[in-house]
Amino acid sequence: MISVAVIGLVGILNLVLGLTAVIKSRRNTAAKYYFLITICTVLWIIPLLLLEYTPQDEYKLLFARFAFIGPTFLPVALYGFIAHFPKNTTIYSEPLHRIILIFGLIFLTIALTGNHFITQAITQNGYTIYEYGYQYTLYFIYLAGGIFGQLFWMYRKFKKSVGLDQLRIKYLLTGFVLSASGALVMNMVFPMLGFDSVALFGPISTLFLFYFTTQAIIYHRLFDIGTFVANLVETIALATFFYVIIFSVRTIQIQVLELSFYDPLNIFIDLVFAFLVASNIKTIIRLIAKIVGRLLITDKIQVEQIIKEFDKLRIKSLSLSDYLQKVEVIINSQLPKSKAKLEQSQDFTSGLNVLRFTREKLYIRQEILTSQQKAKFMKQWQIGILSRLSDEITLVFAEKDGQHAYTKQEIEAISYISQRLHVSIAERSLFEQTKNFNKILQKKVQQQTNKLMRANNKLKELDKAKSDFISMASHQLRTPISVIKGYLTMITNGDLGPISKEVTTSVERVIRNTDQLNNIVEDILNASRIEQGRLHINPAPTNLLQMTITAIQELSARAEEKNIQIKTDLPTKINNLILDQTKIFEAILNLIDNAISYTQQGSVSISLKETTEFITLSIQDTGIGIPKDKHDQIFKRFSRLDNAKQIRPDGTGIGLFIAKKIIEAHNGAIWFESEEHKGSTFYVEFPKKQLSVSSTKTTK
Ligand code: ADP
Repeated sequence: MISVAVIGLVGILNLVLGLTAVIKSRRNTAAKYYFLITICTVLWIIPLLLLEYTPQDEYKLLFARFAFIGPTFLPVALYGFIAHFPKNTTIYSEPLHRIILIFGLIFLTIALTGNHFITQAITQNGYTIYEYGYQYTLYFIYLAGGIFGQLFWMYRKFKKSVGLDQLRIKYLLTGFVLSASGALVMNMVFPMLGFDSVALFGPISTLFLFYFTTQAIIYHRLFDIGTFVANLVETIALATFFYVIIFSVRTIQIQVLELSFYDPLNIFIDLVFAFLVASNIKTIIRLIAKIVGRLLITDKIQVEQIIKEFDKLRIKSLSLSDYLQKVEVIINSQLPKSKAKLEQSQDFTSGLNVLRFTREKLYIRQEILTSQQKAKFMKQWQIGILSRLSDEITLVFAEKDGQHAYTKQEIEAISYISQRLHVSIAERSLFEQTKNFNKILQKKVQQQTNKLMRANNKLKELDKAKSDFISMASHQLRTPISVIKGYLTMITNGDLGPISKEVTTSVERVIRNTDQLNNIVEDILNASRIEQGRLHINPAPTNLLQMTITAIQELSARAEEKNIQIKTDLPTKINNLILDQTKIFEAILNLIDNAISYTQQGSVSISLKETTEFITLSIQDTGIGIPKDKHDQIFKRFSRLDNAKQIRPDGTGIGLFIAKKIIEAHNGAIWFESEEHKGSTFYVEFPKKQLSVSSTKTTK
């Protein structure tokens, strides 16, 4: 009785497996033939079971005939399967398949049209005893030859193939050989030798096929239905668990407590039980899934969780090496069944380069069929999966124990993870490169700045030496000039005896030139004082009106010489300012002198205005003017414009420089308006509320 239940269950298991394979991997021809094989076994098992149940001997004989249908087609189905498995090694010959089919049909006709194979079936002592015809031997030869001949072909395929395919063939071949041998020996050989009672156990040997196929499905991704089968096993385990509980509770209720079905206590126990299950259903499911997962080595991977943790890392500003360390920890905690490592060693990377492992590709060792070298390299390093993330960094997963394959789910997760990492590592190394580049740049800039600073200091030293020299030289010039001037004055005064008129005129000319020389020396001395920040200012109440009139008087002879009219617009009275008389006078004198010098015809107009806040002096001429693009050069040291050089070759170009410094040292301002050929107007303005006049410091 139990044997019948077991055999029935074996049949159902085989059928479910075949059905799952054909439904879940529809495009796989081998899967379709595998399904046919399971149908053949079921078509064999069902009549055998019916035969066992039937008391009438004539029916037994009829069922015995039907029991030939399944096995007769087995060589046909097997040919289809082996020809198409594995997928990339298909060698299918339709004529050969037809021949096998014709043989099958012949034997089937013989089997169904009379009692040729089994001539008699009688029940003796509860067992069925058979009598066999001579054709039965022929049939045995057809079946055993058809099956084992093809399994030998499958063995040759196994020898030739590599990697995962080889492993899959190995499992299936083992399943087929054990099942077929068991079935043939128990169901045909033993009964023919007179041991009829074992015939029924033949179908149990198909458990081998079921077992090895399931192993190949779960561990070696056969038909790509690992996850589905894992879920199925999970459901079966869960159902068994509930069944055991219900069965136990019922047993306690009926056997131990001796309660009837409608007893209130019974109902109460049922309710408590229902409540307990309902409130813990999630924990139970999780627990069972975990146990089954551990059993099948197919933990469910939480890809979203991994990505979430990656994203958390991404926003942290970690160095590349810290980042990689953390990534390694995340992967290993989320994919506990696979040891991941981020390989960076030189040896390893150069090996990858030599064998041309490309980036953004997932290399699965058991599936590398094209390059034996690559597979060898991975074997040598004991790597199951490899993905190059950058030139230096590679994500590697260790080989699994017992050569188990990575599941489809794991491979998908790893592929997704490496895509993500690929991007963020590129991002990070770019960031690091920029950072390093910045550092180098900063260093370079610093070096150049230091160089410039040194050069600048040297220039300053040279400049100082030059200024010192000019200052010393002009200082030394002052004494001889005043001695020359003293003697010349004595000559013209007649102190050294009478001189002729011609001599007087000549000496007077010499005196004028000596004065001019003196002025130049004074200017140079002032300029170098300003440069050295030593301009000394002697403030005293000063009347600008008076000063302007004196300056005009001093220069009127020169204006007359050049036939230039001097126009004035002066007030009768003006408030005093606190100024350095000598220096401001020099500045005003220089401005009026420039106006006369750089005007060839026309006039110079001088005006002085006092408002509540300012006193402003303006000197306007009708001279050569200053080109607009040269305006910014006028107050610079030694700056002289071309148009000025032409009409006055002997200027120094420092008058305006000194004037500006002196006026600004009095908190005053100097500016001008001018256009070439249209004359110029220079303005000097002092605030009436004078701040303290800086006497020792000037801006350079
Ligand atoms: P210098 O008169 O000795 O050349 P300044 O410092 O006084 O030196 O003047 C600098 C330059 O400014 C002159 O060489 C000249 O080109 C220009 N400049 C000054 N005043 C006038 C002016 N009134 N008209 C035209 N150009 C002027």
